[in-house]
Amino acid sequence: MRVELLCTGDELVTGLITDTNSTYLEARLFDLGVKVERVVLVGDVRPDITQALKEAASRADVVVVSGGLGPTADDFTLECAAEAAGVPLEEDAQVLDWLHLRYAARGLSPNPSALRMARVPRGSEPVRNPEGSAPLVVMKLGGAQLFFLPGVPREFKALLEGEVLPRIRATLDARPERTYRAFRLLRTVGIPESELDMAVAPMGPRHPRIVFGFRTHAPENHLKLMAEASSQSEADAALAAVEVECRQMLGTKLFGVDSESYAAVVLETLRRAGATLAVAESCTGGLIAQQLTAVPGSSEVFIGGAVVYSEKMKSAWVGVPPDVLARHTAVSRETAEAMAEGVRDACGTTYGLSVTGYAGPGGGTPEDPVGTVYCALSAPGVPTRCERISVTGDRDRVRLFAASHTLEMLRQ
Ligand code: ATP
Ligand code: MG
Repeated sequence: MRVELLCTGDELVTGLITDTNSTYLEARLFDLGVKVERVVLVGDVRPDITQALKEAASRADVVVVSGGLGPTADDFTLECAAEAAGVPLEEDAQVLDWLHLRYAARGLSPNPSALRMARVPRGSEPVRNPEGSAPLVVMKLGGAQLFFLPGVPREFKALLEGEVLPRIRATLDARPERTYRAFRLLRTVGIPESELDMAVAPMGPRHPRIVFGFRTHAPENHLKLMAEASSQSEADAALAAVEVECRQMLGTKLFGVDSESYAAVVLETLRRAGATLAVAESCTGGLIAQQLTAVPGSSEVFIGGAVVYSEKMKSAWVGVPPDVLARHTAVSRETAEAMAEGVRDACGTTYGLSVTGYAGPGGGTPEDPVGTVYCALSAPGVPTRCERISVTGDRDRVRLFAASHTLEMLRQ
């Protein structure tokens, strides 16, 4: 099946927004074994959109079009579709009903601009949008099936999941040469992408049915495995076999699969052990607390913590002795250890974690230049442990790696 995407909107070709709709659709189609052949971005220019629609329809079996279905003057994708197909736009009574119902729910009635959304190309099929006003419109152009979706990502996703993908799946399932697939995303930290690639390379010839894919999602590196076979059970078995091998090779560098976040895995480990956690953060400014609290149910384990950015607060809130700060500075092994112990004491938790470092671009010392981070773990019955790491890159990167390395101390 040949699929092309056409995304419309001036904001996409002037650097105002990133085209995330394409990325989303590409990933979802790839799960069905379909690789998008072409993605075209076009500004809000009528003849350009009309031309792009004709061209895509002449090449592809399915064309998914995003954007320009709304009520404003720059929304004219369906006019272009009608023009390309040589049919008029007509008001659709059903879409009109949906619009009236949607506006009435907010105590309003649609104005003339909003009513433009009820005008669809003759012969097309409008489908109700559960998340917004502009409907999905399905129509034929030449030999191609065209799906017109609103550009707003939330609406785009809802209609894609609810209507477009099921229709594409049904077409694929009806084909005699059907292929079955199984997927697994292996999530790693602490192993560079090049090393991951080198480690996986020898496995390729042993697993001819597996497609290996790599993705960097700092500070993590992901290995995507896809198995293809002529039945689902064969695909599942091929995937399971390669996953076992990958797990052996990656050891503890592999922390989770599919959508599991690093913080979720750490929290789950602590939860099973009945342990609790508090965090004192300096250079990460709350990033660790943010990652932990993004996990539903984290309150069972994560009690709280402090952002102690200044020396004053390092002493006042987590009890770092002023003479430690004076003798060793705020970015030092001694300060990190005192922060971890102090926050653990203050919160009465099983574990206390801390992080302090130079995120840059300014600061640092000859011994501890920008990118130097100290993280520490205070745990019951063992001496407080501290690690020093050096992170290269800009401020964001130093903070991200500092946060992940600090959490990693809990898995060691
Ligand atoms: P609306 O009813 O909001 O006007 P629409 O179908 O006319 O919907 P657009 O006007 O093209 O869609 O886009 C609406 C908003 O959706 C844009 O301002 C932009 O923020 C977002 N958007 C549009 N296209 C994309 C895209 N390809 N990827 C991500 N976001 C997008
Ligand atoms: Mg619009």
